[in-house]
Amino acid sequence: MKCTACKEKAVVSLPSHHAGFCEPCFLRFFTNQVEKGIRQHKLFTHNDKILVALSGGKDSLALMLELKALGYNITGLHIDLGIPNSSVQARSIVENFCQLHSLPLIIKELKDENLMIPFIKKRLNRPICSACGKIKRHFFNKIAIENGYDVLATGHNLDDEVARLTSNTLRWDKAYLSDQGPSLPAENGFSKKVKPLWRLSEFETANYAFLKKIDHHISTCPYSRGASFTKLKYFWFNLEEESPGRKIDFYQGFLERGRPAFQTDEQNTTKLTACTKCGYPTSVELCSICRIKELVNSEPNK
Ligand code: SF4
Ligand code: ZN
Repeated sequence: MKCTACKEKAVVSLPSHHAGFCEPCFLRFFTNQVEKGIRQHKLFTHNDKILVALSGGKDSLALMLELKALGYNITGLHIDLGIPNSSVQARSIVENFCQLHSLPLIIKELKDENLMIPFIKKRLNRPICSACGKIKRHFFNKIAIENGYDVLATGHNLDDEVARLTSNTLRWDKAYLSDQGPSLPAENGFSKKVKPLWRLSEFETANYAFLKKIDHHISTCPYSRGASFTKLKYFWFNLEEESPGRKIDFYQGFLERGRPAFQTDEQNTTKLTACTKCGYPTSVELCSICRIKELVNSEPNK
């Protein structure tokens, strides 16, 4: 196969774009998609201070490297979850990556809060991913707000977004369907959140990470069984194989025509107040972190 752009030998085939690219043209394609994604939804500008959540996986590291190449003002943020082996490896990969590319990095250790994931898992004795997600989102936001960042960027790709959209649709979850997208605006006490890789598939970010020789975290979290919409991603993998381009069409169609139908006035009526324990903004009496702390402290050790 020949490169669609320059007619040299192609190394990456992208049926969804009816294209194949050699290495330099693929990297240019990747950059164009990131820039287009930022522009289409006005994610941020070169004047913004951007905090990038770095898990140590290929997507977040690819995002960080690409935003650096595009000249944005970026700082990495890694949350050390305290999971044996997995967290040690993820942290060291992020630290080495930021050192190699001379990028500023903030590390937040959950052990400072007595919220290490294995500890909570043991106390709650139930699947932990939902609590883990809440804890991560809480500290991403808190650190962004307290340190004056304009926007918090995550490495979610098109596959992540389409799987989440399918899950929200299967439940007809109006609140999530009205909010889902590459950009969530800032509101009282909550930072603006963006997903600059929303136009790129997992296959494309994996190719980028490979060609850029990004050393990333691959050992799976011991609690990950059944997590991250695995079955929905598999469902979409098959659909895309049969009919390339369906994923991006579905997601763009949702943003243009589906989402507005869910954005009614009633959606904006959720009132935020200060958590009665810690003062963090919340729509109920206690914020999610204080509720997790209460649960952990109230349930007997199992
Ligand atoms: Fe947290 Fe679940 Fe992800 Fe493990 S798999 S890091 S517990 S969200
Ligand atoms: Zn609280």
